Amino acid sequence: MKTDDVKELLYNNLEHPRWDDVAARCLACGNCTLVCPTCFCTTVEDVTDLTGNQTERRRKLDSCFTMDFSYVHGGGSVRSTHKARYRQWMTHKLATWWDQFGTSGCVGCGRCITWCPVAIDITEEVRAIRGEKG
Ligand code: SF4
Ligand code: SF4
Repeated sequence: MKTDDVKELLYNNLEHPRWDDVAARCLACGNCTLVCPTCFCTTVEDVTDLTGNQTERRRKLDSCFTMDFSYVHGGGSVRSTHKARYRQWMTHKLATWWDQFGTSGCVGCGRCITWCPVAIDITEEVRAIRGEKG
């Protein structure tokens, strides 16, 4: 994948029709986020035992592909569509990671491609947004 300009490519194409295309195929299953070595998003879960004597707050791995992940109290889910969630995920990997951490959020391992049940390929999606044939 050509990466030197990919951050600007994605920032300049947030309304590209390819996001609708990939959203029609994506199941929002979250497999790609669970196998990606750089995905780190979490949620918290409060648990009490039956006696009420012990309470724990646990941090659990979460995924930006779930509805609950972007739920804002009283306002619903900020990213309610598959389009919004896939765009969030791919743009975070390849663009906003540069702003946050000074490096790419993609190490090129290919796990998200291997484990996607509908064969969505991040490299193919970038090529499509570039206007190149797959
Ligand atoms: S190819 Fe990139 S986005 Fe996909 S799992 Fe590997 S590091 Fe994550
Ligand atoms: S693994 Fe594939 S189908 Fe599942 S959320 Fe990721 S891109 Fe969508």
